[in-house]
Amino acid sequence: MEIYLDANATTPVLPAAQAAARACMSEQFGNPSSTHATGLRAHALLDDTRARARRVLGAPTGQLLFTSGATEGIQTAVLSALVSLRGRDDVDCLLYGATEHKAVPAALHHWNRLLDLGLVVAPIPVDPQGRHELDWLRRHAGRAGLVCTMAANNESGVISDLDGIEAALADSPALWLVDGVQGLGKLDLRLAKRPIDYAPFSGHKLYAPKGIGLLYVREGAPFTPLMAGGGQEGGLRSGTENMAGVAALGAVLAALEDGHTFASPAALAQHRARLAEALSEAFPGLVFNAPAALSLPTTLNFSVPGVASRLLLDLFDAAGVRVSGGSACSAAQAAPSFVLEAMGLPAWQTGSAIRLSFGPLADDAFIDAACERIRACGEALRAHGLHGSQHPPVRRQDGITRFSAEGACCYLLSDAASQRAVVIDPLPALAERLARQLRSQGLRLSAMLHTSRRPEPVAGAAAQALRAALPPALRPHEEVDVQGWPLGEDAIALGPRQLLRLPECRGYVLRDALGRLPFAFVGDRLTDTALDTGVDASLAAWLTPETLCLPHRDPAGHMAHPTRPPAAAPVQGLVQHAADLPDLAQQHPGLTLVDVREAHEQGWDDDRLASLSLPRQALPLSQLLNVLPEGAVSRVDGEMIHQPLLFICRSGQRSAQAARLLRRLGHGRVWSLAGGVALLTSAEWAAER
Ligand code: PLP
Repeated sequence: MEIYLDANATTPVLPAAQAAARACMSEQFGNPSSTHATGLRAHALLDDTRARARRVLGAPTGQLLFTSGATEGIQTAVLSALVSLRGRDDVDCLLYGATEHKAVPAALHHWNRLLDLGLVVAPIPVDPQGRHELDWLRRHAGRAGLVCTMAANNESGVISDLDGIEAALADSPALWLVDGVQGLGKLDLRLAKRPIDYAPFSGHKLYAPKGIGLLYVREGAPFTPLMAGGGQEGGLRSGTENMAGVAALGAVLAALEDGHTFASPAALAQHRARLAEALSEAFPGLVFNAPAALSLPTTLNFSVPGVASRLLLDLFDAAGVRVSGGSACSAAQAAPSFVLEAMGLPAWQTGSAIRLSFGPLADDAFIDAACERIRACGEALRAHGLHGSQHPPVRRQDGITRFSAEGACCYLLSDAASQRAVVIDPLPALAERLARQLRSQGLRLSAMLHTSRRPEPVAGAAAQALRAALPPALRPHEEVDVQGWPLGEDAIALGPRQLLRLPECRGYVLRDALGRLPFAFVGDRLTDTALDTGVDASLAAWLTPETLCLPHRDPAGHMAHPTRPPAAAPVQGLVQHAADLPDLAQQHPGLTLVDVREAHEQGWDDDRLASLSLPRQALPLSQLLNVLPEGAVSRVDGEMIHQPLLFICRSGQRSAQAARLLRRLGHGRVWSLAGGVALLTSAEWAAER
């Protein structure tokens, strides 16, 4: 069962809202501008819904316009305010809360530039609790033309002090925009009781569909239409109304008014307390990133020391728990949360943050299921030695583990028998994780090496953090040169294998027991042309044609470059859709499903994988390099004999990376499953009620 805990990104559509939208599309489908009865009925629906919205938002006066969502509302408000500021010499800046949704600063910059106003656009700092610095605002408000402050933050859940902001703006000429998106249905906004000029809302954050929103405009506030056309919405917002969306939003507003559908604030606070308790039990040491007393009762933002957001997000997703690392819009970029950075939280907290949010439809049964699943995630993390003070016996690994973080790669080379390990290019974000892995496997670090001659400050910091996180018995020698190489040593032994320095190069090469050189760690010496032409001659001189070069930076996800590229297999058909798998399996008997997710992500959804009816193997992407020289690609009589492999992961990205690498190495029968496990079955949504 899927546990959806990302309501601040979007919500499912309330059943009553679905019914209202369906009825609107089938029966009340009229155009509200038509003057016949069908049109009049549609118009009545528009009027009814607007009247409800006025009651719910406390806006008996002013304009309440239907829009496509909050982004449009924000554009309209910013355009309106900025047009009114043309030619004014009493204002010189536009202010917005430093934690505002990016639609706000983006709109301010966009319209300031297009209207050629030349105003300074500046963030209002927030304090460590995420609230606006009111003294700062008071000092700067006197010259501000527009001030934008959200009602509640989408990432941290922190509720703004609107009374305090109102007081700080008392003597200001500024227009005031309050982004009410996350407050709808959760806060009593009483719009018309405050001097708020503009307030945008978005239906899909509260059980209405995407594509419908509202914009409140105070009576007398400047207004310029963003869209001109047929004169709908009294000429303030042209374009035929999204009537199905309006009908659905109307049903949600009716549910807010009737008071029986959604949980009370007290019940929501209880739900949050139970989730917070489950999280604290599951992840000892966890810290919450915003004070509960100042936050929406439906949002929790937390960080687990030593566990990066990416790892926890992958684990939660594998376990069917949908949460996010920040706002949904920035989820694709793995950058630390700018909201938490603006609050001045330390880097480890901003880089480990997870947001968990639920909607006011959540009931006890849903919260029970969520708590249980959260506890199971905590157990999984401990069982894999990734968190907690106990180190369960983790199977010792030989070979190379490849980590990637912050756009760079780091390698752990280990030998189980001699209990020796080497880390190449440690990264600060991975220090704790590496230390755990070494401690849980009892591996002593022989060296921490860098591939640059002068370790950058980050590299130095990472090495220091890793050293500090290890007990003295596992730490490497201190007598090392600038790259971390032990003084006076020609080679570092890793059981039967040895790590050697590449002469005249900032790199290392691994030599196996048979004297072969399967891998070289070449730092930043690779360019993408190496994919076609092989590595440069000075490097190649020290390697064999079979050596795989492993980079420090790998933004394109190549993973490895052969020293002299073999004839690559064509990449056509690399990505396969689940519907085409029966044909593929028939054409390629023995087709094996290879799950490249990490160990802690596996085992949660075996039934989904079983639905593919293929023999299955686990091979985490971090371990893929280990099978390259002998396992997946083997030579018999000069012919490449390949086992047909179908890689699968969470979303299709890692599996495509693995498949592309093998094709480049000449393996013609490897594929990646499009969309990964996420698209395998249409996920059943765990009803919150
Ligand atoms: N403002 C806030 C606080 C939000 O959370 C969002 C959506 O994440 C928006 C604005 C933009 O809303 P929409 O994408 O519906 O236009």
